[in-house]
Amino acid sequence: MMDIIVPVLVVLIIALVLTIIVRWHARTVAYRCPECGHQFKITAWTDFKSPHYPLKKRLRCPACLKKNWCEEIPNEDIHSA
Ligand SMILES: [Zn+2]
Repeated sequence: MMDIIVPVLVVLIIALVLTIIVRWHARTVAYRCPECGHQFKITAWTDFKSPHYPLKKRLRCPACLKKNWCEEIPNEDIHSA
């Protein structure tokens, strides 16, 4: 019995930790569109599913609707979401 429970627990813990990291990341960062300069936040789900490099993320800008490698910026810089 234990040899089934232990791997399941490990997977659940990894999934939980990943969820926490992704949600925290989505809350603490925002992105700037290189095309129009618009700054915007993204949801945890968008954060999770979007391809990214360190400090850059492939996102569709909500202002100009173009897909770009958007630059990561601190969330505090944004006052209107
Ligand atoms: Zn834009």
